Order: sequence, then structure tokens, then C-alpha cells
Amino acid sequence: MKHYMPTRILTGKGILQKHKEVFPATGKSCYIITSKSSGKLSGALDDLTAILEEYSIEYAIYDQISQNPTVVSCIEAGKNACDFQADFIVGVGGGSVLDASKTAAVVAANPELTEELIYQQSWNSKPLPLILIGTTAGTGSEVTYVSVMTNKDGIKKSIHNDDLYAKYAFGDPAYTVSMPEQVRISTAIDALAHLLESYFNNNANDISKAYALEGVRILYPELKLLAEHKKLADDDYEAIYNASILGGLAINITGTVFCHTLGYYFTEQYHLPHGFACALFTNELLDYEYLHHRKYCDGFFHTLQIDRDAMKELVTALLPETAIHLDEEEIQALLPRYTNNGSVRNTYGTMTVNDIEAILKRL
Ligand code: NAP
Ligand code: FE
Repeated sequence: MKHYMPTRILTGKGILQKHKEVFPATGKSCYIITSKSSGKLSGALDDLTAILEEYSIEYAIYDQISQNPTVVSCIEAGKNACDFQADFIVGVGGGSVLDASKTAAVVAANPELTEELIYQQSWNSKPLPLILIGTTAGTGSEVTYVSVMTNKDGIKKSIHNDDLYAKYAFGDPAYTVSMPEQVRISTAIDALAHLLESYFNNNANDISKAYALEGVRILYPELKLLAEHKKLADDDYEAIYNASILGGLAINITGTVFCHTLGYYFTEQYHLPHGFACALFTNELLDYEYLHHRKYCDGFFHTLQIDRDAMKELVTALLPETAIHLDEEEIQALLPRYTNNGSVRNTYGTMTVNDIEAILKRL
């Protein structure tokens, strides 16, 4: 079995204040990376800067990270952090900011890096220490060694590297309360996608399966509340956040499957938020596994005491209405992307590009 987790994970209400000693212990100057509104709306940015000021830690803020961050913005943030002579980086935001902060921490220590070299993962110096503070509950990016960025051609492409692990991941569920409902649903369903894609994965082992099962067990009733537009309590925010962390821990071991790699295209081309884009294919995954690996699939649902059809209905209820249909020309143009694709290969079983073609035709 393989499992490596160097990030110190600290979650719970008021966790930043409870562990504020982490900041002076990490350095004397800090470069904060965030996006337009999440840092402020969540309250995380104010909490962070108050702590930095209390310890007389110098800081500067870069707030230009957008959704599905461009490599260009990650390089800019990293170079600015280098110019600022930061000792460490703090990323405050959703998955987009957290991913961008990982690459920026690498660039801050290697300011000569270009987009090409970043994708080649060719750098000499170790990244600056990185602290991540999440404001969404879904990607689990706080704890993963992955940075997903949009390249110069507008394609979402990730890097995976042990250097990208944060030193500390802070997760205060209270920071997720300010998310608009559609962001909350999209991010929560991303967490479900991670958990399922990790379980139905050729790389799954007993540790990743334990994370995945526990994550779905916690998340499933919360997704029902979201589908019914129920008001959430503190416990619900915490449960969704914890499930998202379990999803991150699970995909660190296994990677994701075809749903994620297909989802990237629907974000690039049809601007669907990441979680919704990937979850477009969640039921296809459940159907594929039911058809080809009935025992494994039944075992999963039996362990959780969840009905497979009820799970599928819940996914459908959470997805927005989309009238996306790909014509034959678009499908054929897209298929080369999924030939010899690692995520397609990860899918539990022996999925091929022919299966992908059939799935795209069913959209
Ligand atoms: P996001 O793109 O980080 O944020 C989505 C939107 O939510 C933004 O408009 C943001 O506003 C807003 N927002 C975030 N937190 C908020 C809060 N607390 N209150 C109010 N608004 C808030 O969404 P995400 O789903 O968390 O991240 C998606 C990205 O993560 C994708 O690029 C995906 O590929 C990547 N991802 C990475 C991993 C990994 O392992 N590294 C795993 C899954 C997904 P502002 O932009 O205005 O601040
Ligand atoms: Fe995801």
C-alpha cells in the first residue's frame, strides 16, 4: 500500500486562532495569495491579517487569482512573492486559489520558471513553505499534491508533485458559510466525485477505500439537505468540509477517473463550474461499474447501506439543468485527448476510449 501525507491538517471552528503560533514559527514575512472576494467574504483574510499583525509579520496580498487559475497568474504571484522576499506563502480561498498558491510557492523559490518548465516539473530549489486556508468545501486541494491550472491554450492541465504539499492546511468550516448556494452545491458534489472516483479506481487500496467509504457516509445525508435547499447548521458545514478533506486524502492515493478528465473539457468549453462539470459523469461511472463489476459495486453500496438508484437520483437532483449535447464532429475531435489518458486508465476495470465515445454520445 502507498500513502504519504506530510501536511499537518488542522480543522474545526476557530482553528486559525487556536493554532496561530504556526505563523511566527514559519517566518517573518508572508505573501498572501487570494482571489477577488472569497478571502474577504469568508472572514478568513481578516482573521489571518489580524494574526500576522499581532506577531509583526510583514505581509503583502495578491488577489488576482481567478477560477480555474491560469499558469500566467501563478507565475506572476510567485515572482511577486520572490520580489517581496517572502519567507512563506499563505493561500486563502477555494480550490482555484489553493492550487495557484502551490505553483506560486514553487515559482517564488525559482523565479526563472516558465510555463513550459512548470509543466515539465523542472525546478531546482524547494518551494517556499506553504500554508493553505480553504474557503470552499469540495476540492480537498488543501491536502493534495496537485495543482490544476489553465495553460496558454486554455486547457486545464495539472501537475502532481510531492513539493506541492502544504506544510499546514487550515480548514474552518465557518469560512464556507458565505458561499453562494450554487457554489456550495457544485463544490460538495466535487467532493462526492472525488470519493467515488477514488473508490472505483484501479489504484484503490485499503487506506484510500477507507477514506472514500467514510467520506461518502458523512457526505450523503448532507447532499440530501442541499438538494432539498434546507438550512444548514454548524455540524453540517463541518461534515461537508471533513468529507471534502477525506476526498482529497483518497484521490492523493488513487488519482481521479474519467469523470474528472471529461469534466475539464466542459469547464473549458461550456464554463461549467468544476464540481458540476465532473459530476455530469458520476452516474455514468456508477452505471459502468454496476455493469462491469457488479460485486464490487454492490459491496460499496451494501457497506454504506445506500441505495444505488437513490444515489443516482440525488446526483441528478443536484446537477443544474444543462442542455449540453455534443455533435459527432465535436466528439471525434475530442477523443484523441482520451486515448492513453491516465484518468481513463485509472477507472476500475479496463475502460477504453470506445467507452468514452459512448458516454459522450449519451449526453
Ligand atoms: P473556486 O474556483 O476556488 O471558487 C469558485 C467561486 O466561489 C469563486 O467565484 C469564488 O469567489 C467563490 N468563493 C469561494 N469561496 C467562497 C466563500 N467562502 N464565500 C463566497 N464566495 C466564495 O472553486 P472550487 O470548486 O473550490 O475550486 C475549483 C478548482 O479546484 C478548479 O480549478 C479545479 O480544477 C480545482 N481542483 C483541484 C483539486 C486538487 O486536488 N488540487 C481537486 C479538485 C478540484 P472569488 O473568485 O471572487 O474569490
Ligand atoms: Fe475535483
